[in-house]
Amino acid sequence: TATQLLHFVPRQTENKGETKLSKPTLAIVGRPNVGKSTIFNRIAGERISIVEDTPGVTRDRIYATGEWLGKEFHLIDTGGIEMGDEPFMEQIKQQAEIAMEEAEVIVLVVSGREGITDADEYVAKILYKSNKPVILAVNKVDNPEMRNEIYEFYSLGLGEPIAVSGSHGLGLGDVLDEAIKHFPEEVEDENPDLIKFSLIGRPNVGKSSLINAILGEERVIVSDVAGTTRDAIDTYFTSNDGQEFQMIDTAGMRKRGKVYEATEKYSVMRAMRAIDRSDIVLMVLNAEEGIREYDKHIAGFAHEAGKGMIIVVNKWDTIEKETNTLREFEKEIREEFQYLSYAPIVFVSAKTKQRLNKLPELLQEVSHSQNLRISSSILNDIIMDAVAMNPTPTDKGKRLKIFYATQVAVKPPAFVVFVNEEELMHFSYARFLENQIRKAFTFEGTPIHLIARKRK
Ligand code: GDP
Ligand code: GDP
Repeated sequence: TATQLLHFVPRQTENKGETKLSKPTLAIVGRPNVGKSTIFNRIAGERISIVEDTPGVTRDRIYATGEWLGKEFHLIDTGGIEMGDEPFMEQIKQQAEIAMEEAEVIVLVVSGREGITDADEYVAKILYKSNKPVILAVNKVDNPEMRNEIYEFYSLGLGEPIAVSGSHGLGLGDVLDEAIKHFPEEVEDENPDLIKFSLIGRPNVGKSSLINAILGEERVIVSDVAGTTRDAIDTYFTSNDGQEFQMIDTAGMRKRGKVYEATEKYSVMRAMRAIDRSDIVLMVLNAEEGIREYDKHIAGFAHEAGKGMIIVVNKWDTIEKETNTLREFEKEIREEFQYLSYAPIVFVSAKTKQRLNKLPELLQEVSHSQNLRISSSILNDIIMDAVAMNPTPTDKGKRLKIFYATQVAVKPPAFVVFVNEEELMHFSYARFLENQIRKAFTFEGTPIHLIARKRK
């Protein structure tokens, strides 16, 4: 059984602070209508991607990745985390609390047009008590004549106000200059052999049960000491063959019971953050309930982020099985997640422990795929065979020519294909080449990127 396979190494408390977050987080707070989401969108920029067509992904984004002067960071718009029917002041208080909990640096947005309001003072007071750096951005300062409006904001007690205009994109560089000064020093991953993974899924699909079943219940002691970093509550364990794992914590597993943790948006945001920190995502589905919008949203995000993926169908014990039940379920998953054709599917039960021992094995296989490097000579043989089998497409009398290909990255594996004209590499042909590469080297569980580049 899985419990025999794994033994738990309790080093999550000692590890505190050593495995720092790979990227710091910047949270935007402030009362409604000051321009938080406008600023968020400016900083996050537009990233064109295939899954952004998925409902709910682009529309009111609250979580994104930004970059300033070569430093990458996560960005959260706390204003997008709705708190249901909580009273107004309670909502903005909870949003401020989320910012203090999640972020390394907080940007408080106020409006130079409206001046200081009670709500601004209220949020400022909450943030003032936190030991996190707070940057005060006075928004809607659209022209230089308005600059005098910012001085009254000194009275909030959060230091020098910075004039910005979200709609015109002014002053945001000053905010980011200030923010990156407070980012913690980047710490290199000290253990490249560690496989970092997370279990992602809607409430009640059985994430905690799976974790406990995998690790052997009593031995998992989750530390929740005040002031521990998020990383410190991750769980580390080693399989009997010596492979080390880091299981990334996500909300819902610790069940701390804060009001806002029950909100859908917050849980999606936590899931995204966990995915960003993971190498491999175990997407947990409930066999009784099938696939939901949440699952598609999360799966799309993980795919875009280039993460490894294993689809875990839990509660398999509850399903009445006939000859084709498993095949049919699998077919349904493949239809719903066409872009995840590389992800292995495993049917498990946390209750009966059926097939749980497959998970560490699968994680290792996927990790192997993510880190695989193909020599250029072999890669070019595959590409040339592919071209011989299925000639390159033409457009307006011009034919795509492929000169050579080379692997440029791992995690996920990325291949640059040098061509005569990038535009001639149609999506369907790129897909065909990808499939040929996969035929030769599976790349189980990992997306691979194929980039057409014009040969100079
Ligand atoms: P949020 O509720 O804090 O996220 O605020 P929004 O980003 O939704 O913006 C609220 C309103 O303020 C919208 O009508 C925006 O177009 C407007 N707005 C945002 N930034 C600026 C700005 O820099 N100048 C002006 N004049 N209006 C802005
Ligand atoms: P989480 O919210 O995703 O962490 O889900 P939990 O681990 O708390 O599980 C939710 C409920 O499903 C609990 O009542 C579990 O006992 C039950 N459960 C979890 N895994 C299984 C399973 O494999 N089979 C059955 N029958 N019930 C399960």
